[in-house]
Amino acid sequence: MRERVFFTQTPSFLAYQRLMEGSKGKSNAQSLFGVHRIPCDHQIRDLLDAVSPEHLFPVFEEILQVLEAQGQLEDFRCLGDSLLVALDGTEYFSSDKIHCPHCSTRTQKSGKTHYFHSVVTPVIVCPGQNHVIPLVPEFIVPQDGHDKQDCENAAAKRWLSRQEQCLRALNVKVLGDDLYCHQPLCQQFLEQQLNFIVVCRPESHTTLYEHLEGIELPTLTTKKWTGLVKSRKPIPTAISTESPSKIAMRPCWLTGANLLSPPLMAR
Ligand SMILES: [Zn+2]
Repeated sequence: MRERVFFTQTPSFLAYQRLMEGSKGKSNAQSLFGVHRIPCDHQIRDLLDAVSPEHLFPVFEEILQVLEAQGQLEDFRCLGDSLLVALDGTEYFSSDKIHCPHCSTRTQKSGKTHYFHSVVTPVIVCPGQNHVIPLVPEFIVPQDGHDKQDCENAAAKRWLSRQEQCLRALNVKVLGDDLYCHQPLCQQFLEQQLNFIVVCRPESHTTLYEHLEGIELPTLTTKKWTGLVKSRKPIPTAISTESPSKIAMRPCWLTGANLLSPPLMAR
């Protein structure tokens, strides 16, 4: 079976097909696939509900292999010839009423339970590139043998373990927001010998910021087109490895990479 990828400016494939049918009297679902009546959103969901997302995972891998074979990944290389892989979670279902056994839950202020589904969606990003390259996602769902609810950090750790070989072969630096700046995850980056840059906010890492008080840190300054100057202080992990419980930091980055070295800054 051949996979098809659609890129449209409308929010959904079906909306685009209907628009095309209305304006041109024919959609390409008809011309390409012989679909005579475009199904409604509910029908599509009913059909897709039974399909495990894992069936689509090879498509992500195949696209990455094709891009690499064609040399197109080279356009995404930066910071010491590495690929930047940004990890972030997103909710794709949310309800106070509808739920299933795979839902994550949070208790609202009113005491009511809120149900949601979320996923970690790693993407290859590069400054100056308008496009990103999506990688295999990791769903945040209850795991067999675990009593505790699954969470974004745990899902990211699973993803890193599963993709270890691929990440090392591609020479990757992992990026993450403040949520990822915690000792267990940073420990895993180090164990997997992965470079990483994670945001470290003062409000969530008070101890580490106290630890850094009075220390003169190198600053990386970038000028934006608006004239604004942004300064960030990359903190090498060596500072905090003496005390693993303090591996977290301030409104700086915590990183295992030497970002101030000129050869690394050059694309
Ligand atoms: Zn659910």
